[in-house]
Amino acid sequence: MSRVIGIDLGTTNSCVACLDDRGVPQMLAAADGERTMPSVVAWTSANEVLVGVAARRQAVTNAGATVYGTKRLIGRKVNADDVSWFARSAPFRIVAAANGDAWVRVRGDAKSPQEIASHVLRRMRAVAEEALGEPVTRAVVTVPAYFDDVQRQATRDAGTIAGLDVLRILNEPTAAALAYGAHRVGDGRRVIAVFDLGGGTFDISIMAVERGIFEVLATGGDTALGGEDWDRRMVERLADEVFDKHRVDITSSSLALGRLKEAAEAAKKQLSSAQSAEMQLPFLAQDQNGAPINFDRKITRAEVEALTRDLVDRLEQPCRRALADAGLTAGDIEEVLLVGGMTRWPQVQAQVERIFGKKPSKGANPDEIVALGAAAYAGILAGEGEDAALLDVTPHDIGIRVGDAQFSVIVPRNSMLPARARKLFATTQVDQKFVSIELYQGVSLDVSKNRKLGQVVLDGLPPGPPGSVRVELTLTLDVESILSVTARELSTGKQAGVTIRASGGLSQREIVEIITRRRAEEQPRPRPETPGEGQVTRVKTTDLPRLGPDGLPEA
Ligand code: AMP
Repeated sequence: MSRVIGIDLGTTNSCVACLDDRGVPQMLAAADGERTMPSVVAWTSANEVLVGVAARRQAVTNAGATVYGTKRLIGRKVNADDVSWFARSAPFRIVAAANGDAWVRVRGDAKSPQEIASHVLRRMRAVAEEALGEPVTRAVVTVPAYFDDVQRQATRDAGTIAGLDVLRILNEPTAAALAYGAHRVGDGRRVIAVFDLGGGTFDISIMAVERGIFEVLATGGDTALGGEDWDRRMVERLADEVFDKHRVDITSSSLALGRLKEAAEAAKKQLSSAQSAEMQLPFLAQDQNGAPINFDRKITRAEVEALTRDLVDRLEQPCRRALADAGLTAGDIEEVLLVGGMTRWPQVQAQVERIFGKKPSKGANPDEIVALGAAAYAGILAGEGEDAALLDVTPHDIGIRVGDAQFSVIVPRNSMLPARARKLFATTQVDQKFVSIELYQGVSLDVSKNRKLGQVVLDGLPPGPPGSVRVELTLTLDVESILSVTARELSTGKQAGVTIRASGGLSQREIVEIITRRRAEEQPRPRPETPGEGQVTRVKTTDLPRLGPDGLPEA
């Protein structure tokens, strides 16, 4: 059997790891030596697909067809609050698919986030195959603990499109805790916090670890807070300075702005270990007289700290809320693990220490920890590594619509998985023939603000006066947070005609279509000198799964 790889599919960056021959997780590097890759995919005017650094490098000149932050869209509806927020700032067009899912329009084609993410996953797979010198078909892919089952399923579909059998969707904080070896410390139950500040998002998870069992007790965070906010603050200040000095607005030039952003991020990284850094950008723009503006400025850590104090402050409230959700105080936390590149910033570390009252533990590379943990878990699944069981909780309340538009919770947030809950209903009309129950997931009491998961219809109810016929609804969530639902009429035991249809995501047919299209696109270009073959693209179809009448691939 081939090896199972662990992939950290990040909002900003992605990376891949695998167990080495001694059973130790190791990062896998691309041919250029890079161990992390920007999660960016671009389509050129020649319809060539660029992934990673190559895509990011040309982003400034091809902004409308360079897609980043796909993780914010995967498995989401276009009208979700944070999707609208992202759509307002993204230079590419986010559009609604027929089912309301958030897709991206690139060069006239609407593409699903699953398809876009699959390019990143496929690159990760290629990096692994090259580094290991063998084919790779199986992976563990990590997602934030708060991802709901539609987002998890969509991530799995991205893996399928990339030709990967995703053996498990693993929570990022669980992966990090595994990589830190948090389960090997002592015998008793320990409560830890995983503090993850990446490029675009902040996640805090409170976990209990006991004898190889990881239990996510509570999650929280801020999906609109990350290292890029620090970069943006620096850029705004520096652009203001250029304007004050030269009366030139460099933010109106995407090229100049792109260079300034890149330089700001590089300076920030230097400043996490030095007190000052030099920024030099020759020929950044032209002044009013057409003379070159050579940007040359020393910047200090203290300056950046002063500019971003409020960002650091915003880290506190989600931590307090997650602690409260877990029924704990900061004093109960034995260890705080740092994850995400932005936790290298000293002021962030100081804030963590202030909130939790103890110094956080730092891994060698906080941006690689999640992939290493995914590889460790991949090893467990492949029977190669150590044994550890994982226990997770539901990230959201799951319930139903009642009355006009209220949300009645059936499985509360943070219930341990697997979870099962039942609810009894009585009919409200004479000889009511059927009940229709809408399932939702979210945190709002107003059901319209939550995500609709699907609908359960039980028909053929026995006749009777209102209230005489009773229906029991059972919700079951498996260890991967995948929901199944049954409804049963109690007097007859009838349990028929119940289906739950996810109201989002790609169908099996759509997934197979993307794979087919992808393979067609990847056929070697016909050589123009071959007569008659200039316009012909041959598509190999023999090894594609066949679709049955229900739209599912046949075995
Ligand atoms: P991640 O999403 O975990 O890859 O984190 C990426 C974020 O971490 C970006 O905003 C980077 O600028 C930031 N980052 C990476 N290295 C450093 C560093 N040495 N100091 C400060 N920020 C860093």
